[in-house]
Amino acid sequence: MALLWIYVFLFGLVIGSFLNVLVYRLPREMPIAHGFSQCTGCGHRLYPKDLVPLFSYLFLRGRCRYCGAHISFQYPAVELANALLWLLCAGVFGFTPRALAAALLCSCLLTVLLIDWFHQIIPDVMCLAILVCGLGLWAAGGGPDLTARLIGFVVISVPLLLLALLSGGRAMGGGDIKLMAALGFCLGWQCTILTTMLGALLGTLAVVVLRPTRFALGREVSFGSFLALGGMIALFCGDGIIGWYLSLVIGA
Ligand SMILES: [Zn+2]
Repeated sequence: MALLWIYVFLFGLVIGSFLNVLVYRLPREMPIAHGFSQCTGCGHRLYPKDLVPLFSYLFLRGRCRYCGAHISFQYPAVELANALLWLLCAGVFGFTPRALAAALLCSCLLTVLLIDWFHQIIPDVMCLAILVCGLGLWAAGGGPDLTARLIGFVVISVPLLLLALLSGGRAMGGGDIKLMAALGFCLGWQCTILTTMLGALLGTLAVVVLRPTRFALGREVSFGSFLALGGMIALFCGDGIIGWYLSLVIGA
């Protein structure tokens, strides 16, 4: 059993290193499965021994083997974050097909979070991947039923679309709309509304908390990043939060 957890962790690390590739290449419109990995400092080709997730970074103490350039801490951090998310999915959903679909969804959301944070875009292909995860979650069973998922697809995305149309595209980006449609199918309508509320809350908090620091969000806030984070929270504890909220409101 312990071995199974180690496998999940290691597989999460490997997928995490692929997410680093996506985060680097997708916004630059570079082909994903083309060319060798290169050091972004010296351009030296990186061999498999340089690309072992997390362990290469630790062994080489965060420097390129060839030119000594500092490798961003972001790379091992993303690998580790993804591995922890995969462990969490196995912990919450067991070793089931549902856990696998949830883990892939978490990886997609982590990718969206990072790309939107650094580039203020959400690639269409990531929204499509999230929708595929949603189909996987539905096929695996155990979550919201099809009706709840179809309502989830439109419950936030359509109002956002209307808002975008009314504001001439200034209030809301197209990426956020597609993200909330795909995520809505993954989570069902209740958790999709929760995701949006969490995203708005976390985004506002980040602006307020970070304002006096050097991390201040001077530019436009990456709403998509916070929606992705909200989506992860809703995936793991959405039902619990909604139940708690309803008991507060209704006193049930
Ligand atoms: Zn280098």
